Amino acid sequence: MERELACEIVKDLLPLYVDEMVSDVSKKSIENHLEHCVECNEIYQNMAFHLEMETQPTEVQDVKRFLKKTKKMYLLYGLGCLSFIAILVCMIVDLAMNKGVTWSLITGSSCLFADILIYVLSTCKKNKGCITMAVISIGTLSLLSVIQITRYCLMGSGTVWIFRYGLPILLLWLLVLWLPVLTRTILKWNIWDCIALFMLLVIVGNYATKLITGDYVWNDVLHMQGFAGNALGEVIGIILFGIIGRIKKWKK
Ligand SMILES: [Zn+2]
Repeated sequence: MERELACEIVKDLLPLYVDEMVSDVSKKSIENHLEHCVECNEIYQNMAFHLEMETQPTEVQDVKRFLKKTKKMYLLYGLGCLSFIAILVCMIVDLAMNKGVTWSLITGSSCLFADILIYVLSTCKKNKGCITMAVISIGTLSLLSVIQITRYCLMGSGTVWIFRYGLPILLLWLLVLWLPVLTRTILKWNIWDCIALFMLLVIVGNYATKLITGDYVWNDVLHMQGFAGNALGEVIGIILFGIIGRIKKWKK
């Protein structure tokens, strides 16, 4: 009779005991009871197990999330500092060479571009590929504009070709860059084949760029040699990466 009553009391107190919210005296008597009573002990084990399952993972997750957040924060602060140092060094070099603020502007904007890209990559969760593509497109166009305007206005050299040719060339090279990425993600090509495809597209890209800007003079031997030399390097690369791709496939 006494034991039955004690069981009832222990069962009522177990939730508090698991949460460590009972007095030391109660704690001791509950522990004493659990040692002898199989039934209550089973209930206690069950409760403790569920509590562990419920609380520990979220706690660990919280800690992990916090660490990830701080890591990300330090990365961004570090990038900001590095960019600032790069801009400062370029400004000092510019001033020392009496050139005014030229390369510091270019370096500054390219650093800003890189920082934004990494920030976007580290913070966005959905549509990473599309957002990255957008940042690269807009960033590259602004970067090219800054370089062009700086050269034209401050250094008195170059033309404003960015406004005439910049956009088609940018789209062309984005295609060269993203086609291999898309074949990898959608068609599941192996990485070596994708690099080979990229190099093939670089040849096409080089040729098309010259066509867009119209500065390809096929009669000019130097131009011809330059294009052929570039293309030869790419062709060797295509063969090399193609072979590596075949070997990797064959090994599998
Ligand atoms: Zn009991």
